[in-house]
Amino acid sequence: MAEILVLAEHSGETVKKVTLELLTLARRFGEPAVVWVGPGAEGGRGRLAEFGAAKVYVADGAGLDDYVAAPAAEVLAALVSRVSPAAVLVAATPEGKEIAGRLAVRTSSGVLTDAVDLTPATDGAGLVAEQSIFGGAIIVQSRVRTGTPIVAVRPNSAAPEPAPGAATLEPVSVELSEAAKAARITERVVAQRGERPELTEASIVVSGGRGVGNAENFALIEKLADSLGAAVGASRAATDAGWYPHQFQVGQTGKTVSPQLYLAVGISGAIQHRAGMQTSKTIMVINKDPEAPIFELADFGVVGDLFNVVPQLTAEIAKHKES
Ligand code: FAD
Repeated sequence: MAEILVLAEHSGETVKKVTLELLTLARRFGEPAVVWVGPGAEGGRGRLAEFGAAKVYVADGAGLDDYVAAPAAEVLAALVSRVSPAAVLVAATPEGKEIAGRLAVRTSSGVLTDAVDLTPATDGAGLVAEQSIFGGAIIVQSRVRTGTPIVAVRPNSAAPEPAPGAATLEPVSVELSEAAKAARITERVVAQRGERPELTEASIVVSGGRGVGNAENFALIEKLADSLGAAVGASRAATDAGWYPHQFQVGQTGKTVSPQLYLAVGISGAIQHRAGMQTSKTIMVINKDPEAPIFELADFGVVGDLFNVVPQLTAEIAKHKES
């Protein structure tokens, strides 16, 4: 069975959820082989085995961690020429997309970005990537016809499904080119993170929109989120107004989330917002306007003033947790 290379996104030994999603998608077409650049592969191996990785190519040589994007592209390029994989999958993060572009140039291959699904081609040759464009208004299907298909898949496009794999570690050594050393990392600053889960990885997300009214009122959204152990998101109207930081924006030009539960509070449901949350498993809405388009997506909806509903909901959740 042909190998599908999956570039691991990891933080030290911790495997990011998107990698498990890519492994799940890769199993549709062949045998997933993870490519791990940098240290931590031994620690991450167990998680990769749980999600069906047959092999883990480990490139942990000196200096690989010192440069931006290029080393991963060079490691992948070396593996593409060595093992002739059926495809290469990376996460459609800013770094993942840069790696995909560089790899495409190095291997003279076609590249597709922001895929939201992958299916086998009907003629049995290769894969078809689905892309959601114009804020989710149009779905297109694309296929690479030159070289090795390189596909950057959006985080949260597939639910990770466990399947056993051997995840055999195989060291790979790559001599970095001078070009790869052009942009060196000079300092790493650990981002200050609160107790809340990462927005794109959270199983519950509570988002606030223009209806929240101002920055101070976002404390209501945060309290509700904390009562549920959820991440906080925001519409672009709220982030553009400076009520909540841009890194928490959900939507076409923000983050894509696909949690078990998405709570939209004071958000109207513009197409650009939907593009970032419409694949959530359960959607709950709190909005005072019964005609708000977001209700079209809702599994549960409360028509009411959020300043009445949210504090009551937070108090009820707290009571429920105590009992
Ligand atoms: P509004 O549309 O103003 O809705 C506010 C809602 O709050 C209303 O439905 C109202 O009934 C309700 N409300 C008001 N007061 C209360 C109350 N007291 N209690 C309960 N409900 C109340 N938007 C995004 O979110 N993410 C994106 O990534 C994004 N990308 C974009 C990209 C482009 C190129 C463009 C053109 C736009 C983009 N937008 C994006 C903006 C998008 O079009 C909308 O303008 C935005 O999503 C609206 O945010 P909102 O729903 O919070 O505000």
